Formats: sequence, structure tokens, C-alpha cells
Amino acid sequence: MEEIKIIPVIIFLGPPGAGKGTQALRLSRVKSIPKISTGDMLRHAVQEDSDLGRKVKSIMAEGALVDDETMLNLVADRIARPDSKDGFILDGYPRNIHQAAQLEKVLRPHMQICVVVIDVPEAEIIKRVAGRRTCPQCERIYNVHFHPPKADEVCDVDGTKLFRRQDDQERVVRKRLTTYRKETLPLIEHYKKRGVLQVVNGVHLEEEVGNAIASQVRC
Ligand code: AMP
Repeated sequence: MEEIKIIPVIIFLGPPGAGKGTQALRLSRVKSIPKISTGDMLRHAVQEDSDLGRKVKSIMAEGALVDDETMLNLVADRIARPDSKDGFILDGYPRNIHQAAQLEKVLRPHMQICVVVIDVPEAEIIKRVAGRRTCPQCERIYNVHFHPPKADEVCDVDGTKLFRRQDDQERVVRKRLTTYRKETLPLIEHYKKRGVLQVVNGVHLEEEVGNAIASQVRC
């Protein structure tokens, strides 16, 4: 009998600044499957000043959530692309119970959800997010306190000037944390009940968290 190949759908959950983007990128390289970051997709749309970008700009700047239908369209189109056929990693989606239900409906046969929670206490988050810098070219994420670039404010790999996310100001981070607690946290219980949840301690160096994910997480 032919063996059925399971297609992994790996969802990273955790508060803003927990390291989801960094770890999702790492794992996507290890597994050779794409990392799909809804936050990155929306930021590109804002930068390009597209219809979508104009619609979401102020919502993102306030740390609130973009509506579920818009997000579903974005994600459904992206996961229908050929590079996602052997699996993919979701960073920033789903963000609430309704999005999780919508996602299930657009998954193809043999796709299996596996959820990785990066656990970091809130006090640590504010500190981390204040120092975060991102490379717009290769999407590498640095932190001026914990993981600084070799030269000030430029990417080690391609020399591009790093940028600071607009929504990383403390006031907006606090609002994003409130949104996370209210909307996204219930997803942890939801996926736990389904037995697909794995938790990794995120209060370590990037490399150590990456190794823990590589060795502990089964997806
Ligand atoms: P992130 O980079 O994942 O922190 O996302 C940045 C911002 O994009 C969020 O604060 C939201 O405004 C928006 N966003 C990203 N993903 C979603 C989603 N799944 N649902 C609603 N809004 C989202």
C-alpha cells in the first residue's frame, strides 16, 4: 500500500516579540519550506501603498487586528502557491479562534497542523521589542541589546540598512499585548485540546531556542 505523505502546517504562536519570526525563518531553512508571515505581507502592502496597504495601515499602527476576511484571502492565496505544496510555516496567523476555523477550511488533504508556542513573559517582551531591528532585504531580525548587527544598524549578510517597525513603540506594543491576550491566547487552549501543541521556552538566546525547536518539536 502506498504510504500517505503528511504535509506539515507549522503554526508559530506567542506574544509579539517572542521570536516567532526569527525561529520560523530558521525552521523554514532547516525544513526547506516557506515561512509565511502575515505581518511581513501586510507591511509590504503598506510600503507599496497598495489598496490593501492603505486599508490596513492605521489598524497596524494602532496594534489592532486586521479583519478576518482580508486575512483569509491573503493567506489562502499564498498557501495555494506551488512553493507551499510540501508544507509551510505560519508566523502571525491564525490570530483568533475564527481565523483558526477559516484556516482549517482552506487546508488541502493530508495537511496536518502542528503548533509551536514560544513562551516568553510579558516583562521581557517590552525590553526585546524596543531593541528589535529588521533587514528589509533578507528579513533577518536583530536586537541591539541581545543580538546586535556587527556594524551599526546594517545587516551582516547584505549590508542593507536595518529598520525599526513603526508598531514597536512601547505604547503600541502594550496595545498589541492586550490584543494578544484577548484574541490570540485562547488559541493555545484550542490547539492544546486537539493535542497538537508543543511549548518551547523562549527566554534563551536565539540559537538555544532554535536548537530546542529542532530537537524537541515533532512536526
Ligand atoms: P506581526 O508582524 O505578526 O506582529 O503583525 C503586525 C500587525 O499586522 C499586527 O499587529 C496586526 O495589525 C496585523 N496582522 C498580522 N497578522 C494578522 C492576522 N492574522 N490577523 C489580523 N491582523 C494581523
